Amino acid sequence: MSNDYYEILGVSRNATQEEIKKAFRKKLLEYHPDRNKSPDATEKFKKINEAYQVLSDPRKRQLYDNYGQSAFTNNAAAGANYTEQIQFDFSDIFGESFDSIFQNVFFDGKTPFDEIFGRNKTRTKNKGRDIELNLDVTLVEVIKGSERNIVYKRYESCPVCHGSGASKLEKCSYCNGSGHVSQIKRTIFGNVQVIQDCQKCNGTGHIVVEKCPHCKGETRILVDHTLNIKIPAGIEDGLTLRFSGEGDVARNAGIYGDLYIKLRVLEDKHFIRQGKNLITKITVPFYTFILGGEVRVNTFDGEQIVHVKKLTKVDTEFVLKGYGIPELYNKKRGDIIVKLVPEVPDSISQLELDLYQRLKDIDANK
Ligand SMILES: [Zn+2]
Ligand SMILES: [Zn+2]
Repeated sequence: MSNDYYEILGVSRNATQEEIKKAFRKKLLEYHPDRNKSPDATEKFKKINEAYQVLSDPRKRQLYDNYGQSAFTNNAAAGANYTEQIQFDFSDIFGESFDSIFQNVFFDGKTPFDEIFGRNKTRTKNKGRDIELNLDVTLVEVIKGSERNIVYKRYESCPVCHGSGASKLEKCSYCNGSGHVSQIKRTIFGNVQVIQDCQKCNGTGHIVVEKCPHCKGETRILVDHTLNIKIPAGIEDGLTLRFSGEGDVARNAGIYGDLYIKLRVLEDKHFIRQGKNLITKITVPFYTFILGGEVRVNTFDGEQIVHVKKLTKVDTEFVLKGYGIPELYNKKRGDIIVKLVPEVPDSISQLELDLYQRLKDIDANK
C-alpha cells in the first residue's frame, strides 16, 4: 500500500470533502479487521484511518499538500499537533549538492532511499510555477457559500506547436533524442549513475530548426485564464484553497503548477464575527426597555423579530438560534446575538421634556 494519503484512499488530489468521505467509507468496509481476515488488514485499516484524519481536515490537508508527511510529527495523523511544521531538508544534512544529485539518480534495484524519499526515480517533467492569488469574500459568501469565475494570467502550453516551440524540429544528435546523458558520480553512498539533462537540447531531445511563429519559440504563451471556483460556506479568514494544475505550465510541454487562493473575509457593516456566531448591535428608543416591544433584525435569511419584554435590562442579549455561520464540515450553524443599544435623541420637544420631568418627580417622591 502506498504512503501517499490520496492514493491510500484512492482519490484525486482535487477530491472534494464529500468524495473523500465516500472513499473512506468504502475502504473501511473493505479493510475493517472484523470483515477482512487477511493478515495485513489491521495495518491497512490503520493507514486508511490515518489518511482520512488528515485529508478530512482542510487545515491538515493543506499542510500535507504543501509539506507532505513531514508536516506532521511521527505519529502524524492522529496527533493534533499539526501547527508544528517539520520540514526535513536533506540538503541541510548532506550538503547542498545532495538533493540535486539524487533527484536524477537511478539506483539499481531498491535502496533505503526509496523509503526516505518516496520519490519516483524515473525522470519526471518539470513542473511550472505555482500561482498565488488573494480573493476577498463577503460575509454573505461565508454563510451561503458561493461560486465565482476568476480570471488571472498564466502561462499555457502553446496550442500551435504543443509546447515544442518549433514549427520544424530535428532530433538532437548529442543525446540521440533521449534528452539526457548519463554519467557515473561518486557520492558518500558509492558510485551511482546520474542522469542529467542533455545540455545541447536542454533535455528536450530535439533541436529547433524553425521557431513556432505563434509563441516565437517560447513553447508557452501568457493567457487570461478563467477558472470557476466554489467557495465553501463556513470558511475562515485566511483560508487557502488549492487548485491542482491551475498554475503556470513549465517550458517545453511540462506540467502545470498549482493555484493557491488565499481568502480574505471582508468586514461587514452590521455584523461582527465571533467564531460561529455573529454579533449585531441595534439601536432602539430607550422606552423599548421599559415598555417592551418588537425589534426587527435583518439576517442573511430574511427579517426576524426579537420580542423584548417589559422592563428589560440594557445588557440583555437576544439569540437568534441557527442564523449564524455554518461550520465548514457539517454546516451546522451558529447563532446571531442581538444587543440592543438605547438611543438618546438629538433633539426633543417641550412636551417630551415635561413628561420626562414628571417621570423624574414621580421617582423622587417614591
Ligand atoms: Zn540532446
Ligand atoms: Zn508555439
